[in-house]
Amino acid sequence: MDKLMTSIQYIKGVGPKRAQKLRRLNIKNINDLFYFFPKDYEDRSQFTTIRQATIGEKSSFEIEIIGMAKVIRPRRNMSILKIPFKDNSGYGYLTWFNQEYLKQKFKTGERFRVNGKVKKIGLEIQIQNPVFEKIESNNKIGRIIPIYSLTKGLSNNEITKIIENALKENLIYIKESLPNNLKKKYKLLHIKDAIRGIHFPQSNLELEESRKRLVFEELLLLQLGLFLIKNRNIIDEKGINFPKDIDIEEFISSLPFKLTNAQKRVVNEIENDMVSYKQMNRLVQGDVGSGKTIVGAISMFKAAKSGFQSALMAPTEILATQHFESLRSLFEPFNINCELLVGSLSSKKKQEVLNRLKDNEIDILIGTHAIIQEGVDFHNLGLAITDEQHRFGVKQRAILNQKGNNPDIMVMTATPIPRTLALILYGDLDISIIDELPPGRKKVETYAVDNSMLERIYKFIEKQILQGRQVYVVCPLIEESETLDLNSVENLYNQFDKEIFKSFNVALLHGKINTKEKDRIMQEFKDGMIEILVSTTVIEVGVNVPNANTMVIYNGERFGLAQIHQLRGRVGRGEYQSYCIIINESKNKIARERMRILQSSSDGFKISEKDLDLRGPGEFFGTRQHGLPELKIANLIRDMEVLKIVQKEAIEIIKKDPNLNSTEFKVLKQKILELFKNVGDELIFN
Ligand code: ADP
Ligand code: MG
Repeated sequence: MDKLMTSIQYIKGVGPKRAQKLRRLNIKNINDLFYFFPKDYEDRSQFTTIRQATIGEKSSFEIEIIGMAKVIRPRRNMSILKIPFKDNSGYGYLTWFNQEYLKQKFKTGERFRVNGKVKKIGLEIQIQNPVFEKIESNNKIGRIIPIYSLTKGLSNNEITKIIENALKENLIYIKESLPNNLKKKYKLLHIKDAIRGIHFPQSNLELEESRKRLVFEELLLLQLGLFLIKNRNIIDEKGINFPKDIDIEEFISSLPFKLTNAQKRVVNEIENDMVSYKQMNRLVQGDVGSGKTIVGAISMFKAAKSGFQSALMAPTEILATQHFESLRSLFEPFNINCELLVGSLSSKKKQEVLNRLKDNEIDILIGTHAIIQEGVDFHNLGLAITDEQHRFGVKQRAILNQKGNNPDIMVMTATPIPRTLALILYGDLDISIIDELPPGRKKVETYAVDNSMLERIYKFIEKQILQGRQVYVVCPLIEESETLDLNSVENLYNQFDKEIFKSFNVALLHGKINTKEKDRIMQEFKDGMIEILVSTTVIEVGVNVPNANTMVIYNGERFGLAQIHQLRGRVGRGEYQSYCIIINESKNKIARERMRILQSSSDGFKISEKDLDLRGPGEFFGTRQHGLPELKIANLIRDMEVLKIVQKEAIEIIKKDPNLNSTEFKVLKQKILELFKNVGDELIFN
């Protein structure tokens, strides 16, 4: 058995009780312990002397005790312990507040290392509340001290000691995962040195080198794992090359508006892809309202005029219908046939659509997931577009590939994925960004408030409705939760419907309501029959109700910033000034900072970068959503440069040995499997 899989219980100084506490930190075996990296460091390696010390700063000193301890009591319940010392440059006192018992630890003539903040009181030099150790031992001072995340009943000293013991006995068993050529090429430390160096660095340089090595390893595992998920093409596939001489200008000039510069640029990028021999794999990212649909439409126009069919897939029936209705009329003058395929069609109608699709009588098929079901056969699918599918999976892409002969593929999303994350998630996708809104859009006025404002919020909602507007109310959970004090959407609905807003039409929408019912409710909201829609985040995606101008979000602290921004994009779609009110119950600093970002910025891209920075990728997406394993050391923003290198090398590795079967990659492969074991995506070689 792998020695490093041994339970931590058997490490010197652990035992069953501490083992249990360590498990709370997700440390079960020795390997976990090695990879339990410090969250911070305190540099106590720099020694100075009393004469040279900077007042107000923490430093380390070597000192000798030169007299008896004194205790001063300036007030009741307060004592100051003062112990006189000298070093080879001068004299001073070690001082502690309310820790009289420490005086037994110091005897005249003994020598210590101490580290603490230097203060000057009158002419007297003090080192306040220092940590200390006998000069013979070499533990806490004169080194860079690792600071670990703690759990109740386990101090930093204890964890440090445990890790030290574990390293002493077991570091020899750790196996190198990186191939030699990479280590050489990028001057990376051996894994043994990196693990020792990340916990107990002798210098800042060593710390940096250790970190670099571990970040490299982590990103390489992540990237290889993602590349190896079934059916991903990392090597360019041959696709359709659409003719160069198809004129899209006649379509563009028929539109009721002029394209923004950003739209023009993206259309251009897509066109280049379409006419090249390569299969297009493009992510079109643009904030809500930036006009992605029309960009998709222009591409489909090009495909249709080139004699190919296109598909546009949306996540809900209502959205698919919305697209169908607005696009059909744009294409009509050009003799391009659009059809709608959704689950709620009668089976007769459905059969008719399928037959016409196969016979090439339909140029553009718009629909839901129904489009990629079995039995939907295209005559010649040349372009497949997926809208608002930020969870658009690797598998769906594989299915689309099979519906045609490597059709060009385009994914449109408003979820602003930070560049780094996009690189990781869609290493094989090109990215276009529509970073400009059509002229004349009004900013959604955003307010972050706390619970004490509820009454005023109710009044505000009422006022908006009386002026003819409609309101979204969003909250995170479906049912009352016992453990979390969150507003359940059902509770809130009942409260609104039966008490607070009795005289208005209130409806409830959440994920457990079946699709048909959901679509009916959305349709009624669109038609203005419902005034207040209480909902979970199911309304997040692309619906257009211009008359709805107010959104109230409960438990704002539970949502990702990008998600709130996305939700907020549901209002501000019409001529009315619109409002987003976020009720935030967390008093914590990060939560407040996040709300501030939302209030001040309406740039979804910036918002998501900031969010990623504040919360890290795990929370940013909710680990499940993208199937990203949690990162222990790499930072997707800070380590962007390493990521780029790693991506290149990962491709080389896979080209060389697609299943990582050679001895050189044995450990690497093991570690990838380990890293992705909770993610649930099948790896190619699994
Ligand atoms: P999203 O990117 O959120 O999917 P849509 O494609 O739904 O945005 O576009 C939002 C609205 O803006 C639509 O009503 C669309 O007709 C309009 N629109 C798109 N491009 C332009 C433009 N260049 N000028 C003016 N309006 C535009
Ligand atoms: Mg859209």
